[in-house]
Amino acid sequence: MVEIKEALEIIRSQHVQLDSEVVSLKDSLNRVLAEDLKAGFDLPGFDNSAMDGYALGGLQQEYKIIGEVAAGDSKEFILKSGEAVRIFTGAKVPEGTSAVIMQEKTKVKQDLLILEELPKEGQCIRKKGEELKEGELVFSKSYQITAAGIGMLGSLGLNQIKVIKKPIIQLITTGNELVAPGESLQVGQIYESNSGAIEAALKSKGFSSSASIQIKDDFELIKTGISEALKKSEVLILSGGISVGDYDFVKQALEENGVEELFYKVKQKPGKPLYFGRKGNQFVFALPGNPASSLSCFYIYVLHLLQKLSGLPGKGLLELNLPISSDFENRGDRPVFLKANIDNNLVEILNAQGSSMIGSMAKGNALAYVAAFEKIEKGSLIKTFLIS
Ligand code: AMP
Ligand code: MG
Repeated sequence: MVEIKEALEIIRSQHVQLDSEVVSLKDSLNRVLAEDLKAGFDLPGFDNSAMDGYALGGLQQEYKIIGEVAAGDSKEFILKSGEAVRIFTGAKVPEGTSAVIMQEKTKVKQDLLILEELPKEGQCIRKKGEELKEGELVFSKSYQITAAGIGMLGSLGLNQIKVIKKPIIQLITTGNELVAPGESLQVGQIYESNSGAIEAALKSKGFSSSASIQIKDDFELIKTGISEALKKSEVLILSGGISVGDYDFVKQALEENGVEELFYKVKQKPGKPLYFGRKGNQFVFALPGNPASSLSCFYIYVLHLLQKLSGLPGKGLLELNLPISSDFENRGDRPVFLKANIDNNLVEILNAQGSSMIGSMAKGNALAYVAAFEKIEKGSLIKTFLIS
């Protein structure tokens, strides 16, 4: 049995060779850059107007208007002192422009432009290269592309982005009692809900599973199922059958498939019988079957590995320290991850903490951590991990 910290360190310390692929810009949201990205040209590419107004030759009170230049125009003016052109936001400023004046600060009489105030050298001009110089680093390798990032890459004219490949993930749920939602239940059976929850959690964090299969509690079937899944996956996530019951065959089936155990059992509640193993460059998590345990373990542990395999630092969920809305005492000798809800910067510990109960987790947005035998008083800070 390992402590939570040790388990996370073991996950973080896995070294893996990451492959890259090229995706189109529009498909690059949340993807991770596989290489440093440098600007191919200055940004902006030319001096341009920050305002709708007039480009001014020299700095004085009155000018003769000699023409107009709109955004996208390629006609070139050369301004002499005392000359001005009508200009619009984003238009290339003519050669010889000393400043741009916004139209609200001007009066026009035929072709005479009169300013209400004297302009300052360079005002309202966005200078070539003021945001980025050609060759300058735009984003470092491992940058995770945001919406603004897509905007930035687009403004550099890029439509193909080299990113780190996402891991190929497969799910296996085990249990004789499990029936797919929508089918009818016989006595003693329950609905299989973990695969749906884990697939959704994967999706919400930008991953997906390529297959999800369901296997009975039969050693040979589980062994074969794992062997087949390992042929086609980089991360295999199992649910159920990893505890110490007579029908818990997953651990032995993993061993017989040559998977090396990296840890088994974590001192925590829920999710004690959590298993993590590796075979070459493939990783295996076996999550406890109880629905709230399996999903909590996904968020706290599996997500770390997936982030690492995707080239991210692997920090897991966002950690927040916020005041708790009422007293909470952990009387047990294991640290707990509690279903919780953050609202108005206050952490409420939800009812129905049982590891089989997924409903309370569904109503919350966080997991709160309390150490063994720790009491947290109302208003004191509690460590919380934001799920969504
Ligand atoms: P296990 O880890 O296989 O011992 O299962 C622990 C508990 O979780 C049992 O009550 C199972 O019926 C339940 N369980 C296991 N797998 C699932 C699943 N995929 N969906 C819903 N409940 C499950
Ligand atoms: Mg089972």
